[in-house]
Amino acid sequence: MAGLDLTGRRALVTGGARGLGQGMAEALTAAGARVMIADVLKDLGEQTAAGIAGAGFVELDVTSDAQWETAIAHTVAELGGLDIVVNNAGIEVTQLIVDADPDEHRRMYEINLLGTTLGVKHAFRAMRPGGAAGNGGTVINVASVAATIAFPGIAGYSATKSAVDRLTRVAAMESGKLGYGVRVNCIYPGLVPTEMGVKLAVETSQLGLFENPDAAVAAVIELTPSGRLGEVSDIADAVVFLASDQSRFVNGVGLPVDGGMGM
Ligand code: NAD
Repeated sequence: MAGLDLTGRRALVTGGARGLGQGMAEALTAAGARVMIADVLKDLGEQTAAGIAGAGFVELDVTSDAQWETAIAHTVAELGGLDIVVNNAGIEVTQLIVDADPDEHRRMYEINLLGTTLGVKHAFRAMRPGGAAGNGGTVINVASVAATIAFPGIAGYSATKSAVDRLTRVAAMESGKLGYGVRVNCIYPGLVPTEMGVKLAVETSQLGLFENPDAAVAAVIELTPSGRLGEVSDIADAVVFLASDQSRFVNGVGLPVDGGMGM
């Protein structure tokens, strides 16, 4: 993204093996940062990292406190510090509330909410004064336009993303009050046709909410003033902005990056 310079910054991106996270890793690198991709998908994560100049890979299930500790220590050692953490890893379960499966919902809550909470926890511990990195920094959590609208078939997912939004604001307040020097913001991406985005269109139509996946996509576009779906780079550029000093007085916000869908 022209004009935003992250030279010398060190970033960790969860869920960076593919999709939006991969795009964020590429965009942060293009702006000058060095990136560690953290994901449960080892082979794909290593392959993705190999295609990004200076990037590394660390295996991480974001729901594991112990794995977070190891991943952060590895990142600080490999990159020589840590300035940016993007809590992007997430899953989406498409289900009507009347058919909510407890195990699938529990897993989604754990990854989307607990995983993000642990990401903020370990980012704070590393970046606050006296931490292994110790120079402050920025955390960017990935919520969703689903936190701001009532789209049928994704109640549990929407709830996790609303929770990420509130978590973000409290985290920014705690960081400020306790002098951590870490800004915490979140983004609400609109629908982007990654594996997750395509799955959502297919599954909401399978539930009978739309005639077919194309109709689901058309319904999203109809609700979007910009008149199109999101692209990976639309979302990644917003992350670069929130990681940069140009957003230095932006703290504790949820930034819609959805072409206006969630207004
Ligand atoms: P994706 O399914 O393509 O990629 C998600 C990545 O997260 C994968 O690499 C996956 O392996 C990783 N992941 C899943 N569980 C993990 C875990 N426990 N620990 C570590 N990594 C894990 O999805 P995406 O579309 O790239 O979505 C990325 C983020 O953006 C998610 O949080 C999603 O909810 C959010 N989002 C996506 C869209 C969209 O339309 N694609 C819209 C709004 C928000």
